[in-house]
Amino acid sequence: MADTTGNSKRSETSAKLDEVRLKKEELELIKLEDEVKKLEAHRAQFLENRKQTEETLAESKRKKLEQQELCNHRKGGMDLEGIAGNGSHAYHAIAKHQLGDGRVMVLCLRCQKIWMPGDEDYKEMLRAQTDNVMSTSAQFGGMRFMDVHQFQDGTSA
Ligand SMILES: [Zn+2]
Repeated sequence: MADTTGNSKRSETSAKLDEVRLKKEELELIKLEDEVKKLEAHRAQFLENRKQTEETLAESKRKKLEQQELCNHRKGGMDLEGIAGNGSHAYHAIAKHQLGDGRVMVLCLRCQKIWMPGDEDYKEMLRAQTDNVMSTSAQFGGMRFMDVHQFQDGTSA
């Protein structure tokens, strides 16, 4: 009889232990599910941020190309007209720069468009009139590049 009581107590204890273990596993599962949810939210946020960054970059690239398309690469123009690329001056707002290898690149100081040998309109832009002085790689260092492109009358593009 004593054995039976002992057995039943033992099985009662073992049942309780099983119950506790089960609860513990359930809690661990909930914790894991929670972590997975957090990770998924994190990942979704990351992807969303990346998408927005890409969209912003694409948008600013599109705007820049549009600005370059509209720019006449000339000096002058009243206020915003000039800034928007509607220069009224005969001279071009361009800077020519000779690279170390001898090639000359042309840069519009208004829309930042760059022409390299072989580009469409390169020859035309190379011949375009400007009173800016051509710089060379020897002068190219720090801010020097922009310094040498101040206009002769002291204004800049
Ligand atoms: Zn331009």
